[in-house]
Amino acid sequence: MIYHIAALEDWLEAIDNGIYFCESLESEGFIHCSSFEQVIPVANRFYQGRKDLLLLAIDEKEVNSPVKFDQVPDSKEKFPHVYGPIDSIAIKRAVPFPPDDSGNFSLPSLFLTPAWWQQKPLEEFTQQEWESVCDGCARCCLYKLQDIDTDELFYTDVACRFLDLNACRCTDYLHRHEIMPTCIILTPQNLSEIQWMPATCAYRMLYEGRDLAWWHPLNSGDQQSTSIAGVTIDSFAVSENDIDMDNLQDNVQDWIDFV
Ligand code: SF4
Ligand code: SF4
Repeated sequence: MIYHIAALEDWLEAIDNGIYFCESLESEGFIHCSSFEQVIPVANRFYQGRKDLLLLAIDEKEVNSPVKFDQVPDSKEKFPHVYGPIDSIAIKRAVPFPPDDSGNFSLPSLFLTPAWWQQKPLEEFTQQEWESVCDGCARCCLYKLQDIDTDELFYTDVACRFLDLNACRCTDYLHRHEIMPTCIILTPQNLSEIQWMPATCAYRMLYEGRDLAWWHPLNSGDQQSTSIAGVTIDSFAVSENDIDMDNLQDNVQDWIDFV
């Protein structure tokens, strides 16, 4: 893992574009990064007092651009440099990085906590841990249609009538299976049988051996980050209460990815 100190403005653009770049890529030909041990000395030397920063953790193995460890002037250490933009999929954590009252930086506590969800199999999660894996996107609450000839699945932008669309929360989560019999209660045991969870579903990502995305609240420490990343359905979904369900096929959205 390598680390990059990002300005909030650049990070918000990366969320929109799915790719991160900053001014140094144009002026110097690369994006400055650091090893874990180099982050705080760099922050205190070059960013004293800046309050608009995030710390990004980047998996260099997933960066499509070349990554080189270069000698830099006035230092005996080599620093990682990324010679091109960084796909957001390679960014594993994006955590606010404020200075203390004297303008100095220390590592955000999230960076000092081991990612417990990577340390044990899903079957060993406590109930509380299992529930905390849900990122609140509510994509699983969208109606799906299946082609009877090809079995192909299609997502619609129509949400279950029991979903509070503004909050992206089920209005009766405890009784969800009783009020909506097609609503599946996910468990480590049935995950493998459920083919229609969206590709971004945090349970599916862990089951498939992928890490949680940067926007996941466990990674960001921010319950709003799933929404900030545009992954929640509140910005585009309609409730089944507000459409003619006999014409559900008109609401198929092929950009919602479950492959
Ligand atoms: S798709 Fe997965 S992560 Fe998103 S709300 Fe449903 S269970 Fe939670
Ligand atoms: S019952 Fe609740 S959890 Fe189940 S699909 Fe509807 S809104 Fe989602």
